[in-house]
Amino acid sequence: PAHFIVFFVVSRLMSIIGNLRPSKNSLPCEIDSLGVHAKLRYDLDAIGLASTDYGNIVHEIPSAVLYPTSIDDIIELIKFSNECPLPFNVAARGHGHSVRGQAMAHDGVVVNMLSLKKHYKNGNGIRVSTSGNYADVGGEQLWIDVLNATLEHGLAPLSWTDYLYLTVGGTLSNAGFSGQTFLYGPQISNVLELDVITGKGDFMTCSKDQNSELFYAVLGGLGLFGIITRARIVLAKAPKRVKWVRMIYSDFSIFTRDQEHLISTKGLEYLEGSLLMDYTPANNWRSSFFSPSNESQIISLLKKHGILYCLDMVKYYDDETANSVDKDVQMLQEGLNFIPGFTFMRDETYVDFLNRVRCGEITLKSKGLWDVPNPWLNLLVPKSRILDFNAGVFVDIIHRQKKTTGPLLVFPLTKIVWDDKMSAVVPDEDIFYSVGLLHSGSFNDWQDLDNQNNEILEFCDRAGIKMKQYLPHYKSKEEWIKHFGPKWNTFQERKAQFDPRMILSPGQNIFNYV
Ligand code: FAD
Repeated sequence: PAHFIVFFVVSRLMSIIGNLRPSKNSLPCEIDSLGVHAKLRYDLDAIGLASTDYGNIVHEIPSAVLYPTSIDDIIELIKFSNECPLPFNVAARGHGHSVRGQAMAHDGVVVNMLSLKKHYKNGNGIRVSTSGNYADVGGEQLWIDVLNATLEHGLAPLSWTDYLYLTVGGTLSNAGFSGQTFLYGPQISNVLELDVITGKGDFMTCSKDQNSELFYAVLGGLGLFGIITRARIVLAKAPKRVKWVRMIYSDFSIFTRDQEHLISTKGLEYLEGSLLMDYTPANNWRSSFFSPSNESQIISLLKKHGILYCLDMVKYYDDETANSVDKDVQMLQEGLNFIPGFTFMRDETYVDFLNRVRCGEITLKSKGLWDVPNPWLNLLVPKSRILDFNAGVFVDIIHRQKKTTGPLLVFPLTKIVWDDKMSAVVPDEDIFYSVGLLHSGSFNDWQDLDNQNNEILEFCDRAGIKMKQYLPHYKSKEEWIKHFGPKWNTFQERKAQFDPRMILSPGQNIFNYV
């Protein structure tokens, strides 16, 4: 079956690309006289990659793909587009882990940012300042490489995503969050300075004090204002190991009450949560936490309750705190109301913990189940409506329909650690929940899952749940205006200021909507 799936994926892609061969003609012929001309690729390998992403649902064919060897190449390309009577679109492609074609450019030029990685003359594009506790990192760098490079100095960033094979520029264009975010803020709150090539082709350094409008625009800015070529990321002393505890609940309101209690407690470094359903295995690709004997205990519990909720919390430690960490964990658990006896602990290195999703990726790839359609839906739901969301979505739509087999995540975040001047949009409450419906489909059934996503969105609308989409995807400008709410005017003004000819990030479908 794995061979069949691989064959099916490859042949489907080839047929899409075959039908829509790129036409160099859609770019002005003067492009051939540019210095970057030799770094533009028109071959099927380059075009095929640039018209695919993790979502595997949208496929937009660019006219060319730029493989830059320096940031001057990107500047030259964007400046040239600005000079054309009819400018062409340009999209930065980080690691292409978007789910709805956000890093694509129909008939335009995709910039393959990873190409920059190979062309550093001194070092690897990651420079650590031990005296300043920060790292200067190329926008094209993967977070896993940032982790490895900073650990050499005993330091590490504070704020992470669950999965580390994403680029710095890609996550900073959205927000970048995980279980550490309630405490340290999203990745966009942990940036001191950026180098950006704007949509006009200007190279600018920006921070809260210098060119601040650009700084705030770009962070969470969906790639619409400029291409990030360097980010200065805050670092702190890295722990060596972690105690990772999972507790199981059958009652959603008790589960969320404990989650909210824990994020207001000192001494915890990470908190997430997820759902188990009686029609799926207790372990999934993203988390194989339970041993076989624990798994059978949990399956009997699932038979009784239908849905269970897992609360994950983590306490970091190192040599100095190794003796006290178990006691600290015990103290954190005091007063929690998980099902008695249903608490499980793992002891891992810090790196293995942060890189925990990688194993699942490798397993899925080996079965041909990674490059399938992934119609994910990520929402930020205000705390005041999370119980209604559970009843209407988790219980009444997802559990009743039994379609979703992918991970379902739910955990609280705190608004105070987000900066409202940045472009990222979150609900207007002090605490809101990240809900990740990480569906994996097949080429035959992904549409069913997407219909379920639409049903969920309609339910929220009808019930008046003022949630926001994370990694947003909308088809009409009206929906985008609603998404940005009071931020829309500033967002539009910033676009006019930094990318007046609307060249950048066409895959977001905001300013060039269909
Ligand atoms: P791409 O998909 O290549 O690009 C995304 C957008 O950013 C595009 O609009 C692109 O034009 C723009 N862009 C890319 N590079 C730059 C740049 N240098 N400058 C300006 N704009 C740029 N997100 C979380 O917050 N937390 C998670 O835990 C998390 N886990 C994930 C796990 C998996 C398996 C996957 C597939 C995604 C996950 N995400 C998570 C979502 C992820 O953060 C976003 O999809 C992110 O954009 C992916 O980064 P990328 O490098 O692949 O970006």
